[in-house]
Parts: sequence; C-alpha cells; structure tokens
Amino acid sequence: MANKIFVLDTSVFILGYDVGGMKAVTVPEVVDELLGKKKVFLDIAVEKGLRIEESRKESIKRVKKIAKETGDIEKLSSTDISLLAKAIDCGEDAIVLSDDYAIQNVCSKFGMQFEGIQQGEIKRDIIWKKRCVGCKRIYETGDICPICGSKLKIKMVKKDERYK
Ligand SMILES: [Zn+2]
Repeated sequence: MANKIFVLDTSVFILGYDVGGMKAVTVPEVVDELLGKKKVFLDIAVEKGLRIEESRKESIKRVKKIAKETGDIEKLSSTDISLLAKAIDCGEDAIVLSDDYAIQNVCSKFGMQFEGIQQGEIKRDIIWKKRCVGCKRIYETGDICPICGSKLKIKMVKKDERYK
C-alpha cells in the first residue's frame, strides 16, 4: 500500500472521509467544484498533506480520446476528465477514489484501479470536525467559537457525534 497514490474525487470532500496517512492528490477542478460549498474537509485534507496538481495536457487528450472510443465522453464532466488524466499522470500506482458510479464505470473500462469510499479502506465512522477548546462544542468550520470565543481545533469525531 505504501506506494499507492489516491486520486480523490469531489465526493470524498463532500462526504468528509479522513484521508490522513494516505498519499493523496486531487486536481484544481475539484477545488473549484467545492467553492461556495462546505470545504472544511478539503482544508483538513490539505493540512494532512493532500496535493493539488493540474493534470498534464497530454493525459487530458488521452482520456478524451479513450472516452470517445468507449462512448463515455458525454457522461464525463471536465472535472471527471481532469481527474482521470491525473490518474494517468500518477502511473500504475494510482487508485481513483470516488463514489461516483459513472467515474467507477469508466475507470474499469480504462483499466484503471478505483475504489468506492464506502467499500474502501477509509472508515466511514470517523470524520474530521473542529472542536472548541473551551466549551467543546463541535463545528464544521471556523477558527473561533461563536459561543465562548475560544479557539477551534481540528478533531477526529465519531459518526454518532456528527450532529451534536
Ligand atoms: Zn466554545
């Protein structure tokens, strides 16, 4: 597993899975998709070493060419195409991590490794949130607790604590 590189789809950051301890990369198009939404999980992933890299133009061309041949080009957004191109850039150690069925389907047609988040190694019951060092309230985002004014720190939270 040590050399595996996980290529992360937007769904990873929306669902909030812990990517700590993984070699992980995503593309700027995914970051753009998250703008204006909750991007706390992306911020946390970056703090934990996630790299954000553009895909090589040659790889994007290659993905488009294969997708035309397989008839999948219509189903893929420009983000999907860039993500698949990034998987090509990363070579045979790349695993696309996505819960998007269309992406998984195309990966299997392209002969790329992929993993669904729910079936994958990442435990679904652990998520990352921010917790106030003062009153211990849990927040999705922010730096200062609006209730007591203390600092918020990133903390691993069990799923059942999620909505507290
Ligand atoms: Zn507080």
